[in-house]
Amino acid sequence: MTAQYSTVLPGDRVVARVREAVLVVDAPALGASAEASALAAAIDVDGALAPVLEPLTGVPYAVVQVAGSEVRALLRGAPDTAPERLLTVAIFTSASAATPAHVLHAEAEFVERVAPLGPGAVVTVTVGPPPSPGPVCGPTALHLLRGAVPGAGAVLWSDESLQPEGDADIVTDAFPADAPTNEEPTGVSPLFAATEYDVEVRGPEEVPAAGPLVEGRRCAFGHLNAPHAGYCSRCGALVDRRAPLEAGPRPPLGLLVADDGTAFVVETDMVIGRDPSAYTAQRGGRAFDGAGRLAPIVLQDRTGALSRAHLEIRIDGWQLLAVDVGSANGTWVRPPAAAAPLRLPPGQPVPLAMGSDIHLGGRILQLQEVVTA
Ligand SMILES: [Zn+2]
Repeated sequence: MTAQYSTVLPGDRVVARVREAVLVVDAPALGASAEASALAAAIDVDGALAPVLEPLTGVPYAVVQVAGSEVRALLRGAPDTAPERLLTVAIFTSASAATPAHVLHAEAEFVERVAPLGPGAVVTVTVGPPPSPGPVCGPTALHLLRGAVPGAGAVLWSDESLQPEGDADIVTDAFPADAPTNEEPTGVSPLFAATEYDVEVRGPEEVPAAGPLVEGRRCAFGHLNAPHAGYCSRCGALVDRRAPLEAGPRPPLGLLVADDGTAFVVETDMVIGRDPSAYTAQRGGRAFDGAGRLAPIVLQDRTGALSRAHLEIRIDGWQLLAVDVGSANGTWVRPPAAAAPLRLPPGQPVPLAMGSDIHLGGRILQLQEVVTA
């Protein structure tokens, strides 16, 4: 089994993807989570993680790696943790299984556990008891590729678990009478107003040198910013615009926060839709500029108005562009100061301003800043 897909359960802890591992830290995502950053940096290495993690102390965490026919969990809890707060790794034989086949718990001391995995298995990593994966979150909630977001835990899906089993079609839920529609895309989801994210991203020194290089200016804390930026988009510090431009790996340029509270880190081109895999394959997984990667982002939409490949987000230097890739029902974008959303002309890239709402199908995404503590 490979676990290309890891989805995030909504919550306020830290969930990160580092290489092939998923890290869940029982520390608040909002505010200082230097310990979560330190953990993420520590496991960004080749080879066995136990020797790296065992000497570390501090916040409770779970690191889960899926390889071949086994899952490896590296866990550290805290003494006297209540059962409903224990970091838990659960292995379900399929997405529709109601109860896990294996459950691993963090203990006060560091432990490394290995459990067998069959084809089609689904692994959950949570603070507290495991959800049953299917009903709680479809395999299309949030695909975390890299970086860290707020969450209560993560679900690792094998390729096999994403295939519908026989008649059990996960997409054809009954259409609810109060489902959101895109007929009059005007209001903003109240979720956005209540959503304040503080997302950990890698520091500039930790970004792989292989990432695309861009020219910009650094704040006093070393974050690379767009040439025209007066203040750091990551930490708010002043950026000296008299300083010479320098080249560096491009940082994440924003977060796309969905109306259900899940968030996607924008650091490569993305294609968003209910099943964008064919589109991604057709493009050879390549970004529009041919250099970077094109990440498929799967959204679930019960209105049926979301196309398989609906919207592409491109990165051009420091600028994000939105391109409706010929969706059946269109895409509307409302910049923060605009009264009404504007429909994107199909196939034409349109600059996307920070704070914009994007209406596609029955879903709404909002582009937000990536802010570090
Ligand atoms: Zn900064």
